[in-house]
Amino acid sequence: HSSILARSYGIPAVCGVDQARQRLYNGQTVILDAFAGKVIADPSAAQIAECASKRNALMRQKELAQSYLAAPAMTKSGKRIDIELNIGSTNLPEDLLPYVDGVGLFRTEFLYMEKKEIPSEETQFEVYSKVLRAFGDRPVTIRTLDIGGDKPLPCMELPRENNPFLGNRALRLCLSRPEIFRPQLRALLRASVYGNLRIMFPMVGSLDDIRQARKWVEDVQTELRSEGIPFDPNTKIGIMVEIPSIAVIADLAAKETDFACIGTNDLCQYLCAADRMNPDVAAYYQSFHPAMFRLIRTVIDAYSRVKKPCCICGELGGDPAFSCALIGMGLTQFSMSPSAVPEMKQMIANLDEATAERAAQAVQSKESAAEVQEFLNRLVSGECKGNKDQLP
Ligand code: PEP
Ligand code: MG
Repeated sequence: HSSILARSYGIPAVCGVDQARQRLYNGQTVILDAFAGKVIADPSAAQIAECASKRNALMRQKELAQSYLAAPAMTKSGKRIDIELNIGSTNLPEDLLPYVDGVGLFRTEFLYMEKKEIPSEETQFEVYSKVLRAFGDRPVTIRTLDIGGDKPLPCMELPRENNPFLGNRALRLCLSRPEIFRPQLRALLRASVYGNLRIMFPMVGSLDDIRQARKWVEDVQTELRSEGIPFDPNTKIGIMVEIPSIAVIADLAAKETDFACIGTNDLCQYLCAADRMNPDVAAYYQSFHPAMFRLIRTVIDAYSRVKKPCCICGELGGDPAFSCALIGMGLTQFSMSPSAVPEMKQMIANLDEATAERAAQAVQSKESAAEVQEFLNRLVSGECKGNKDQLP
């Protein structure tokens, strides 16, 4: 999550550098190449020159991408794509707000990590209604607490687990702790009258999870009604698709939910059996694995058959190469870190549907993550960059 935070601010970052604190010292010249995932200490003059020229090219590309920001995201073939934000605090990127279609993922963990007590219903109500008001009619998808796994809590003693990512995390934890779940659901439903709220549950693995979570929402609605507290009874209820079991039965999940958001960060770790926190298995965490595309296609198809919204909100939702193939599969909603918005809009404006379909088909027939990645990167850098003369 430090990486996600760094990316959302556009700060170059490289993680998992072995013994960095022993090997690097203050004042040393260092090249940090976040694209290559390299830290070069005491670089040669040739390495510095090469890096400076890469940096200049990157700055020019960023400036070009920026010029696509103001227009709505639309492919060359005229298909409108929704661009939504992933946010994790009430510190909203004000400069971007006029140019996005809503919030695809509001991570609520920050509320629970700041203090030693569980945040009160009132505190949460203030935060949720503030964000809903800021987006007016546009959808704001607020995810219920996703704690456990890599995210310990100062306000709660959680038992140590041998495999926390496979443990009592997120929705599982909430279902077993009414003292956490009830105030959050009450705050969310009370805030629903201030905008277009969508409530989303993380780490859903089965229909049973969905039914239990929905029952909780219904009970809280009944409670609020009996207290005469207003809420929007049509608030949409959806799930994160980030456990392969629910992706495989997405056709069944689609019948019992109003929308789905594909969480590729976790989906990849569970599908590839590679801990997203462990640098030793980073090579096995293959986001572009052909299995990822096949599985994601199952989810897109299932939700599109019942005409319910499906979105991607993992980090790959802001990756132009990955997303180009998903547009070819029919996905039209992408949620991403604020820093990814300009480049995604640039890719979309220069993408025609035939190219997107070609990408979608090609990824299904490739044999390895490296092949898929190379193919998509080449496609995007060749056909979907555009230049200033072709601005929308
Ligand atoms: C995901 O898993 O893709 C996701 C968006 O959730 P998080 O990174 O917060 O686990
Ligand atoms: Mg997740």
